[in-house]
Amino acid sequence: MKRLTILEAETLAGKFRSEIGLSQYEPVNAKTQLRKLNITTMYRPLSDNSYGISCRSKSGKKFILVNSNSTRGRQHFTIAHELYHLFYDENPSPHICQGVATGEEKNANMFASALLLPREGILSMIDKDEIIHSKIKLATVLRMEQMYQVSRSNLLLRLKELGLMTESQVKSFQAIQVKESAREYGYELSLYEAGNEGLVIGDFGEKARLLYESGKISEGHYIELLNMITDGQGRGVRASRSGGHT
Ligand SMILES: [Zn+2]
Repeated sequence: MKRLTILEAETLAGKFRSEIGLSQYEPVNAKTQLRKLNITTMYRPLSDNSYGISCRSKSGKKFILVNSNSTRGRQHFTIAHELYHLFYDENPSPHICQGVATGEEKNANMFASALLLPREGILSMIDKDEIIHSKIKLATVLRMEQMYQVSRSNLLLRLKELGLMTESQVKSFQAIQVKESAREYGYELSLYEAGNEGLVIGDFGEKARLLYESGKISEGHYIELLNMITDGQGRGVRASRSGGHT
């Protein structure tokens, strides 16, 4: 497994954007893209700290399972993370990721971050004064997270990665109550809340219905079911508990 640099992850994400017909500015509408890419996606409750599972069948069919207990912003990141596994993971093998973001998990996180929060788009939303004085305002942070539909922590990490925020600035933003601040600025709060439970995107057959109907079960069981869906041919089934970008 090759460990990607930030630049490589950005180049890969930029290329992916071009391939799905998006500019380097506009937000990714996850549900629209999942439909266009024909990826069967289900939103089901998973246990805490498990964000998603993806798998690919030999025939090329792709599936994603998203934890509907995580916030919508976090779900968006999970989908982008799973897209990396589905399209770029060089050595997909069944496993459950264990908390710490290393190896392909780290690559998937960097790709997800660059895909959802493109450098050009982010820069276009920051005032020149904010750049000159190295101080991004809360109003700008809110505008960006709402525009790109990501969690506050995903955005802050990306701003730090791009050299637009220092560690101590990130820390002071982390002390701010996310929902409270969004409410004060008049934003809709659904981004910061769980949701989509039971939602299914794409055509799904009889076998997939098993998964849909299975309710709240262990990740191990989900993996078994996903393997059934792909007739045991799943080339990569994994649960992501990617740390770092929560
Ligand atoms: Zn992963």
